[in-house]
Amino acid sequence: YGDPSQKIDYVFKVVLIGDSAVGKSQILARYARNEFSLDSKATIGVEFQTRTLVIEHKSVKAQIWDTAGQERGAVGAMLVYDITKRQTFDHIPRWLEELRGHADKNIVIILIGNKSDLENQREVPTEDAKEFAQKEGLFFLETSALEATNVETAFLTVLTEIFNIVN
Ligand code: GDP
Ligand code: MG
Repeated sequence: YGDPSQKIDYVFKVVLIGDSAVGKSQILARYARNEFSLDSKATIGVEFQTRTLVIEHKSVKAQIWDTAGQERGAVGAMLVYDITKRQTFDHIPRWLEELRGHADKNIVIILIGNKSDLENQREVPTEDAKEFAQKEGLFFLETSALEATNVETAFLTVLTEIFNIVN
């Protein structure tokens, strides 16, 4: 997960937003530390986490925030809902509006349907989310922080797209 002595070519700020309890903190814990907890509490004092990766021979440090109101300066956003809670998907347009009002207009956004491991409790059809994402010009993936499904891919999608924009 990154050699600390490595020189950093880019720092990209990414924010995780969405309703409470959709799994934002666990997605971040999975990506930054490869950890998951079923009884996650609010992380006090930790403002963001980082992970350094290499894209096209450049080292990119992702600085990832999962607290609301950190949109300023963000070049990427993960808009997260819970596939087992319809309401969290229905709130996505509001989060998107909020994001577009506060962030850079070129911000790269991915819509994330988390908790894909709970297929038997699904309330949001994949097609609904796919259609919404397409209409709004967002990337889209379903993830499971618990099973580590698509978490890497989701971050890589956003970070690579940002990288391509600045290069
Ligand atoms: P946040 O409020 O959006 O940061 O949500 P948390 O990351 O604190 O997660 C809320 C609850 O959902 C916790 O009990 C997590 O363990 C659980 N959770 C998070 N991601 C997943 C997942 O992918 N699958 C399942 N089954 N539970 C998850
Ligand atoms: Mg949280």
